Amino acid sequence: MRVGILALQGAFIEHKYTLDALHIESFEIRQKKDIQTEFDGLIIPGGESTVMGKLLRELKLFDPIKELIAQGLPVFGTCAGLLLLAKDIENDDKLHLATMDIVAKRNAYGRQLGSFTIEENFQGIGKIPMIFIRAPYINSVQDDAEVLATVNGKIVAAKQKNQLVTAFHPELTQDISVHKYFVEMIRRKHS
Ligand code: GLN
Repeated sequence: MRVGILALQGAFIEHKYTLDALHIESFEIRQKKDIQTEFDGLIIPGGESTVMGKLLRELKLFDPIKELIAQGLPVFGTCAGLLLLAKDIENDDKLHLATMDIVAKRNAYGRQLGSFTIEENFQGIGKIPMIFIRAPYINSVQDDAEVLATVNGKIVAAKQKNQLVTAFHPELTQDISVHKYFVEMIRRKHS
């Protein structure tokens, strides 16, 4: 199994370390030729969604990645990655890949409460630490998108077919269970 990590900007290296801990091979996606190899899953990290969206377009990665996700490539977006996948962002005119039936709210916790850590339940895993950094949350999920975690009544993790998103950063904790969950999504696709 090979997982590509979008490495244009943001917290991508931490995803590599987490995949290393799971003995999963990964590689960085920086330009178009990087996605012309075979791979089984994609991680879109946290960072700044507007910058990442702009770079995706400039580097001509936007259309091919959108197409791969539409064809069923398993994808895991954290924080800004969630915003890149959301079909609608309540407080941003700019949409990005827009492949997942969720409505997100950007910088949803305000400036003061921008960053915090909490332990909450993740469906199918149990209680895990969740680190939020100027995070979005999900206002609502549509169609067959399902809620996997909530914090204080707000949706912070969801899944729809091949797409998994978290508003928090599992890659910044020692807990590897959400990445393991994603690896299982990839395995199930192949079985
Ligand atoms: N605030 C960022 C954005 O709007 C997301 C923050 C993060 O990825 N840690 O894109």
